[in-house]
Amino acid sequence: MKVLVINCGSSSLKYQLFDMTDESVLAKGLVERIGIDGVLTHQPAGKDKVVIKNDIKNHSIAIKMVVDALISPEHGVIASMTEIGAVGHRVVHGAEEFASSVRITPAVMDALERCIEMAPLHNPPNILGINACAELMPGVSQVGVFDTAFHQTMPKKAYIYGLPYEAYEKYGVRRYGFHGTSHRFVSESVAEMMGKDLKDLKVITCHLGNGSSLAAVDHGKCVDTSMGFTPLEGLVMGTRSGDIDPAIVTFLMKKKNMSVDEADNYINKQSGVLGISGVSSDFRDIENAANEGNEHAQLALDIFAYNVHKYIGSYAAAMNGVDAIVFTAGLGENSITMREAICDGFEFIGAKLDKEANKVRGKAKEISTADSKVKIFVIPTNEELVIARDTKMLCK
Ligand code: ADP
Repeated sequence: MKVLVINCGSSSLKYQLFDMTDESVLAKGLVERIGIDGVLTHQPAGKDKVVIKNDIKNHSIAIKMVVDALISPEHGVIASMTEIGAVGHRVVHGAEEFASSVRITPAVMDALERCIEMAPLHNPPNILGINACAELMPGVSQVGVFDTAFHQTMPKKAYIYGLPYEAYEKYGVRRYGFHGTSHRFVSESVAEMMGKDLKDLKVITCHLGNGSSLAAVDHGKCVDTSMGFTPLEGLVMGTRSGDIDPAIVTFLMKKKNMSVDEADNYINKQSGVLGISGVSSDFRDIENAANEGNEHAQLALDIFAYNVHKYIGSYAAAMNGVDAIVFTAGLGENSITMREAICDGFEFIGAKLDKEANKVRGKAKEISTADSKVKIFVIPTNEELVIARDTKMLCK
């Protein structure tokens, strides 16, 4: 079966076509600037990349262009659209409606509409993508894979906030967590690499990218995660503040005479390591600036590492121990110095980084010393493959 995986954002769309007989990627690409002008970058496996500029008014036109690229005689990888057996969509928010991936039905679409309130920026483009595929490929099964689903196993004590209980009951205010597909993939992968069953392990997964989150995976089930009601909570991130005293928001709104939207922008877009360093939200730029002696850049890196270090400690406490710590996503997979800074001072939980083995980027590898009680790993994430696998499983 060939599965098309779609990840729709408000003005962009990423795709990968998998041949599920061997899980190979036949082609992948990206449509950008949807609704502005439009450009498709298409990468067929083993062939040259093609860039196609076009007026891409909406997501329906973007999906049509993707399918045209996939079946094109020049740079296509399949003979016709009928070869696409199913489509899997990344959906950001499934709230409490979805604890696992589902086949799209009219009832599921209604539930997705109800979830818009929780993710007003993310879920609408996901829905547009599903509708566009239904229009272009009628009769082809579609599946939704949710960022929040993996975290639905958290116990109430981990997801209820210290607010009046009505905030949860009336408005659904609780911890949901995000990056679930990634946390699930790397926790399953680490069990495989250790030759163990995930049900016998306590794992802490660290997804460190532009947005960052940790998850405590206890015997295969997520029991806690650092992102919350929105992806703002938890670690200091590229541009997001992460955990702060909530009173700071109202204090600064008064001081700076900010509107609700301005305050939202301040903590989501202007904060994090960008706000601290004043350099960039990209960790590579911050590392370079720190190496050149920029103290604010160094401070941003120190704060980030300290944050992750503390969260790992608290999740080890939450699970009464830890067997494996996994680093993934852009920063987690690639930053040797950040992993070293995070793991410095973990003797108390029995985790020792092997500094030589840690000199690795973007490859699955154990990076702890032979005598380390807690194993440490780098594992590149692959959310698209999880979506393709779930889609195949649900559409067989
Ligand atoms: P997103 O959340 O957008 O999917 P990614 O997982 O791609 O993000 O991670 C992007 C982050 O990873 C950026 O901040 C980038 O600086 C960082 N990153 C990527 N490669 C490296 C590297 N070699 N060294 C340090 N940071 C890196």
